[in-house]
Amino acid sequence: MISVAEAFTLIARHAQPRPAVETPVAEALGLILAEDVASDVDSPPHDKSIVDGYAVVAADLAGGDARLAIVEEVGAGSVPSRQVTHGMTTRIMTGAPLPEGADAVVMIERSEVNASPHSPLGDARLRVDDLRPGQNILRRGASFRRGELVIRAGARLRAIEIGLLCEVGRVAVRAVPRPTVAILSTGNELVPPCDLPGPGQIRNSNGPMLAAAVALAGARPVELGAVRDDRDELRRSIRSGLAADVLVLSGGVSAGVLDLVPGILAELGVEQVFHKVRLKPGKPGWCGALTSGPAPTLGCGLPGNPVSSFVSFELFVRPALAQLAGRGFNGLATCHATLTQPFIHRGERPTYHPAVLRQSAAGATVEPLAWQGSADLRGLAAANALVQFPAGNRTFEAGEAAEVLLLDL
Ligand code: AMP
Ligand code: MG
Repeated sequence: MISVAEAFTLIARHAQPRPAVETPVAEALGLILAEDVASDVDSPPHDKSIVDGYAVVAADLAGGDARLAIVEEVGAGSVPSRQVTHGMTTRIMTGAPLPEGADAVVMIERSEVNASPHSPLGDARLRVDDLRPGQNILRRGASFRRGELVIRAGARLRAIEIGLLCEVGRVAVRAVPRPTVAILSTGNELVPPCDLPGPGQIRNSNGPMLAAAVALAGARPVELGAVRDDRDELRRSIRSGLAADVLVLSGGVSAGVLDLVPGILAELGVEQVFHKVRLKPGKPGWCGALTSGPAPTLGCGLPGNPVSSFVSFELFVRPALAQLAGRGFNGLATCHATLTQPFIHRGERPTYHPAVLRQSAAGATVEPLAWQGSADLRGLAAANALVQFPAGNRTFEAGEAAEVLLLDL
């Protein structure tokens, strides 16, 4: 049986980034950019005020105090028509273009407006010490110039980059596409979540759970529902699922007579990459690759028990999705923490046990939770992490360091 580390090294080898495609920016969140992006405008496009206030000739305020005639009012979106010269000021809003002649802006908080016989807008009495030319002004092109590179190929498009792409006029970019992930639940016992289970039945919780995990991992889930442990039905559903970049199955990969999934995947040309991993929960996992089609497809058969399914997804499928999406594999999200209490671990496989990780100024602590095993999804729901115990029987003491896998990503 291979180790967890060996298993995802093998998966990573079979999960290569998909070719980039033209993608609307509105759909590009989380994707990897596949082109260098340059701006078609200067930013800012004009010298602009960064405060609400009064555009002035700074020299007028040399004495720290001045009364100036207000000649105009400009807001963001309008263009000044009057020059500002000595003794004059323009009332200006944040973002508005600076009028010609002005070389500084005094904040509105430093002003007092009085009626004036000379100006219908009144006089502004401004008081400010040490006003320097350029104060409260952002010069045209200060952030970047037209033609300048603003985002490099390879960047991950976060909300910030989505904004920046819009600032430079891009409505579409070349990006590595979101992998599509078909999700197929298998088992004669499964009924849809909306039904009350009859004798011997349970609800299909894995399908929606895995679809949610896929969406959180930045990929596109296509839930195919549940299928019975029947060769023909399984073959039909698996064949349609193999049109996706990844087919994730739950159930039917263990040693029972109805565990038909690996056999049918192999029959359909999906070559086994590994079967069974030294891990608890999640040992029976199966993974293969179909390389005969137009683009390779990964087939991941996860064990049916919900916690096993979830843990296997986090350990193997999530890194594979990162790889397919061009983000590369940067290791699992782990950290070290000290145990809050003693814990007796017995088992011949490394175990990922539901736990609560707490970060504080004194460091990270981890509390293993009461948990009834791989069917106990409710026990996992109280966790924000999995604490790893190596194989073997031993008591871990409070204060001992343990490796922790983060779940709230
Ligand atoms: P299997 O891997 O098919 O042997 O299933 C192992 C256990 O997981 C059995 O108790 C199943 O009833 C349960 N199980 C299988 N599929 C699902 C599912 N989609 N949702 C919830 N439990 C499941
Ligand atoms: Mg089953």
